Amino acid sequence: MIQGNMQVEKFNLISIMKHAARWHPNVEVVTNTVEGGIHRIGYYALYQRIKKLANALDRLGIKHGDVIGTMAWNSWRHLECWYAIGGMGAVSHTLNPRLFPDQIDYIVNHAENRFICLDITFLPVIANVLDRLPKLEGLILLTDREHMPDTSHISIPVLCYEDMLADEPEDYDWPEFDENAASSLCYTSGTTGNPKGVLYSHRSNIIHALTAGGADVFNITAQDSFLMIVPQFHANSWGLSFGVPMVGAKLVMAGPHMDGKSVYELATAEKCTVSGAVPTVWTGLLDYLDANQLKLPHLRETFIGGSAVPRSMFERFERDYEVDVIQAWGMTEMSPLGTMNRPLPYWDDLSYEERMQVRCKQGRPAFGVDMKIVDEDGNILPHDGETSGKLMVKGPWVIERYYKAEQSALDAEGWFDTGDVANIDEHGNMQITDRAKDVIKSGGEWISSVDIENTAVGHSEVQIAACIGIAHKKWEERPLLVVVKKEGMNPSKESIIAKIAEEHAKWQLPDDVVFIEDMPLTATGKIDKKPLRKMFGDHYKDL
Ligand code: AMP
Repeated sequence: MIQGNMQVEKFNLISIMKHAARWHPNVEVVTNTVEGGIHRIGYYALYQRIKKLANALDRLGIKHGDVIGTMAWNSWRHLECWYAIGGMGAVSHTLNPRLFPDQIDYIVNHAENRFICLDITFLPVIANVLDRLPKLEGLILLTDREHMPDTSHISIPVLCYEDMLADEPEDYDWPEFDENAASSLCYTSGTTGNPKGVLYSHRSNIIHALTAGGADVFNITAQDSFLMIVPQFHANSWGLSFGVPMVGAKLVMAGPHMDGKSVYELATAEKCTVSGAVPTVWTGLLDYLDANQLKLPHLRETFIGGSAVPRSMFERFERDYEVDVIQAWGMTEMSPLGTMNRPLPYWDDLSYEERMQVRCKQGRPAFGVDMKIVDEDGNILPHDGETSGKLMVKGPWVIERYYKAEQSALDAEGWFDTGDVANIDEHGNMQITDRAKDVIKSGGEWISSVDIENTAVGHSEVQIAACIGIAHKKWEERPLLVVVKKEGMNPSKESIIAKIAEEHAKWQLPDDVVFIEDMPLTATGKIDKKPLRKMFGDHYKDL
């Protein structure tokens, strides 16, 4: 083999922020803060703080490969944590504060977090499970001295982030290491059982970001002001924490303020041109705009993904507000970009109706993701837009194995089964038709139907229970519990919900319980949810 004569530079995420600081020093990162008020900082000043933080973490004894948790809304401080921790060779691990306490302590212990950096508002969440986190050495509160809460009840050291940074030097020698080194970790609870960790590398994140910015993907340029609503703890913030600074675009972060009014005010004040969030957030914004007869003068485009984008959302955005909607599909295991639904030349010849039908599909993969649909025996299915099969993917930012798993997550030919069922049409547009697993998607979060069912049948008067996702105007889907009572028993709805609440967070609880005589079962004796969905599909229609 003859080697090329080009420079070899190992990918390290910190190079993105170095670039942003050097070439876009005054472009701002703007945050609607947890403490209240808007905070702004340029990329240059942000990078100086990232170096201070790396020094502070060195002082704490953080070493290459150590895992540091973060439980925080989107903010400049959270971004600093990601870059400093990753840049020094440690691993930043996002913790989703919406998880049930049992899942939080499982994840913190499984990932062996040494420290957790957290927003002040999440102190009670961690305090609640602290006695179950034996390896956790300390907490770092992402705030300044003025906003430090009382931490006298916390049994491990609690540090104030701004105090930590205050006296540190603004120089830091970033180490050189293998570009396949882990940079960040995100757990997904899409299946039953314990959540599973997806461990991204510097290489996978940078290649993903390079693609994500492309014109047929997120199409972000230095002229943009990007409103990043999708939380950093959700699927690697869709790669935007890397993709936006990489091109020197302004980065605007909604923090915890995702209601329609807050999003409208931030987007307008910061002249945001592009944004990305799950459908639920956009429903809130559209309702607010409708009710107050407002417009979005600067927003040209928004990406929507995480669950299917309803047709009405395309229409409302485009007809009423002149904002283009682009549907995206992906998953935590894919960093998360899978497909985008961008126009192709043949759309010019389609009627409005035909075009709408295509736009409701999930789209085509960019270079870097390969995709196929197969039947149960692994045979490749045709791209005819009708035949559905298991959606399989591969590529340099697709998972190889879950964190600490002994076995690969891939089949013998290196394909990852997404768990989604889809068809692909002759133009390459993929459409999700079902989820192989019956998890319920509520406001962008997963609710495991089987977990709810397992708890419900723990009720002494419940014979069998099925939990299904029912379409819901605000949350996309909400769980409904369908119950067959034990013979001669008459359990109340309230007592069943109370039973489930013993082991589940409030937002995971079914909104209603309905009783039926016989549970439909499949040939193999499993609950058949299809007829139930048909029967109760409109159950939350009027909510
Ligand atoms: P997560 O890892 O939490 O981001 O969830 C990934 C899953 O969300 C995928 O496997 C899909 O089932 C679902 N999903 C993501 N985007 C879409 C979309 N645009 N349409 C339908 N389902 C989606």
